[in-house]
Amino acid sequence: AKVLVSGANGYIAAWVVRVLLEAGYTVRGTVRSAAKGEHLKTLFASFGNAFEVVVVEDITKEGAFDEAVKGVDLVEHTASPFHFNVKEPDDLIVPAVRGTVGILESVKKYGSNVKRVVITSSCAAVLKPSAEPAVWDESSWNDPAIEEVKEKGAGAPPMIIYRASKTLAEKSAWEFYEKNKSTVGWDLAVLNPPFVFGPPIHDVPSLRGLNTSMQDLYNTVVLGTKDSAAMASINSAWIDVRDLAKAHLLAAETAGAGGERIIVSAGPFYWQDIVDAANTITPAPLPNLTKGSPGATKGKTYMINYNTAKSDRVLGLKHRSMGEMVRDCLVDFAAFQGKD
Ligand code: NDP
Repeated sequence: AKVLVSGANGYIAAWVVRVLLEAGYTVRGTVRSAAKGEHLKTLFASFGNAFEVVVVEDITKEGAFDEAVKGVDLVEHTASPFHFNVKEPDDLIVPAVRGTVGILESVKKYGSNVKRVVITSSCAAVLKPSAEPAVWDESSWNDPAIEEVKEKGAGAPPMIIYRASKTLAEKSAWEFYEKNKSTVGWDLAVLNPPFVFGPPIHDVPSLRGLNTSMQDLYNTVVLGTKDSAAMASINSAWIDVRDLAKAHLLAAETAGAGGERIIVSAGPFYWQDIVDAANTITPAPLPNLTKGSPGATKGKTYMINYNTAKSDRVLGLKHRSMGEMVRDCLVDFAAFQGKD
């Protein structure tokens, strides 16, 4: 079977492509320019004709994916801006929403073989502000982010704009699906991951040019950009990029994933937990890692937690440990030393 992966040169997508190819699928990846496909061609050269790249220059244009969806059986839509370099909300919201609706419109028109569309949403579309420790599940929507952006416009914090872009994009996907599901030959599955960490295989020019989530991990664990108090209090949840790629494969293959929004998470973390895990690896892949206050978050209650019962039940997704994730990241960073 043939799978279309949008934004194939991205951090998560490159792993999605790899896992699909390893599972025996043929993959067509979209990138914004031919140059952005070069690294992928080299990376997946051993798969021969099973991998091809097509250029979709502007995902916000009407019919942008019309050609790309022809002849594919499955679609994995991952292309969406995840950065905070934003002047106004539409910088993130337009490509997130238009890209998502646009690919669904193209599938509806020209994707006559398509059986399932998988969209990479985010826990950013789930999580709401809370002063109390909370466990979030798929029934939660981050409407407060949308409201805040409506209220503050360009004055809203970039992180909130990002969260609004993901919430709006996912909402428009479900809306499109609900409107069309009785007449189309495919169904929709959505994955909601929290912070994604793990070794990158996409084109990383330097350790200061990592994708947003891995840049945060590198800056915190190696460069020590967060102080001890921040590391012991900033809490979120994480998933290994390799497990998330596997989730994309399972979401495409598993009948029960159709029509479902699925939170995929390995568990909550404080940055201090990751730093502690990094400092217990022997031999140390990198010297002089930040230390923070070792053990400060041991047994500490997590404010942000996710209920992953649906992922367990529907996908049966297994997770790598934090130790394995951080070790593999550091080994990877070590290979960069001197090239930075
Ligand atoms: P990357 O920045 O590595 O990849 C983003 C991909 O989307 C790239 O292919 C990029 O293309 C493409 N893209 C971004 N903006 C546009 C645009 N305006 N028009 C067309 N294409 C665009 O990020 P990730 O791999 O981390 O993110 C992939 C997906 O996963 C996103 O949907 C993100 O929201 C989601 N996600 C990521 C998490 C994380 O922690 N990393 C957590 C939860 C969800 P180009 O290289 O040309 O800019």
